[in-house]
Amino acid sequence: MMTVFQPRHQTHTVHVRYGENDVTIGSQCPIRVQSMTNTATADVQATVSQVMTLAEAGSELVRLTVNTPQAARAVVQIREKLDQLGSDVPLVGDFHYNGHKLLTEVGECAQALSKYRINPGNVGRGERGMENFARMIEVALQYDKPVRIGVNGGSLDPQILARMLEENRASADPEPPSTVQLHAMVASALESAAAAEKIGLPADRIILSAKVSAVQDLVAVYRELASASHYALHLGLTEAGIGTKGVVASAASMGLLLAEGIGDTIRVSITPMPGAARTEEVRVAQELLQTMGLRAFSPLVVSCPGCGRTTSALFQQLAAQTQRYLVEMTPRWRADCEGFENMLVAVMGCVVNGPGESKHANIGISLPGNGESPVAPVFADGEKIASIKGEGENADLIAERFKELINEYVYSHYS
Ligand code: SF4
Repeated sequence: MMTVFQPRHQTHTVHVRYGENDVTIGSQCPIRVQSMTNTATADVQATVSQVMTLAEAGSELVRLTVNTPQAARAVVQIREKLDQLGSDVPLVGDFHYNGHKLLTEVGECAQALSKYRINPGNVGRGERGMENFARMIEVALQYDKPVRIGVNGGSLDPQILARMLEENRASADPEPPSTVQLHAMVASALESAAAAEKIGLPADRIILSAKVSAVQDLVAVYRELASASHYALHLGLTEAGIGTKGVVASAASMGLLLAEGIGDTIRVSITPMPGAARTEEVRVAQELLQTMGLRAFSPLVVSCPGCGRTTSALFQQLAAQTQRYLVEMTPRWRADCEGFENMLVAVMGCVVNGPGESKHANIGISLPGNGESPVAPVFADGEKIASIKGEGENADLIAERFKELINEYVYSHYS
């Protein structure tokens, strides 16, 4: 496949470890998918359950908020229960305001976590803030942990912003205050990283992020951050929004940056629609990376939108059943086969583009359109391997046979 993307922006490799599990983050490594729980961390059972769900869906790191002494103590129990369940997913502690106290007072929590997220905008002001920040870095050194310095547009350090606005006012060519705010986010991340290095934390134990909620701003901030350093970068559009809006905004902003080689780990922060699975953001992140050809997680379905030429109920059922089948079978194929994640499966609605797209896919089916002979040819590696006859509009018979053929294809090509 022709690539139009730029090479990865060179960044240090950061190791986020738990037990034998070493999740590496940096330009020499696959772009990692991560997520965050939304349970109260002090609710051990609910949090363990959600961490397991997110990890099983493919979240390679799981972050949880650590906001109270109860939550800090619960982290230790959560880690123990995950161990009992056989999960070695690394846990990341998200600290705001009181992280220096919690990490100092609950040493077992500092040990149980695999990485700390520090927000330099809310560690405290002036001398006190610098002491609090230094304390957290010292704990990271003591327990041999990496740190993400995570700046957020909604909690930017007001002192840095005030200083830069003042400098901007005095400049001969002042920029709009909104632009200065973005520069201040980059400055906050870089100054904090420099302070951490001065205390002794090496550059390959530091990850940076600078999240905002507007697509154009995110792109601008990360371009500036990447051009100024070689720290590993965590990408995320914060407060992306609900449902489709959040998915589109996240994909647009992060897709642009990833195409420029910027970003070593991503988190999609969407508000799920009522009833949607908590794992939706993991799936969106995986599909973003896979559709861009940056990683492969499970086979992709290529399907046409359907139109007046196709018997649309049959077509839609088959496309949906095929998609579900691929998701269901992925764990089993993962255990038995290698490389199947890269497979493309075509489900097409009529003869116009059906055979052509099906031949380009690894395996594909071209359903009969209105007025066409009621036979669905199946192609594998460009060759016709079967013609499935359905009983009238009965998608199930066609779907069952097509699934068998997909499974046979996976085992004959990837096991
Ligand atoms: Fe319509 Fe056929 Fe094109 Fe699908 S392949 S969109 S059914 S013309």
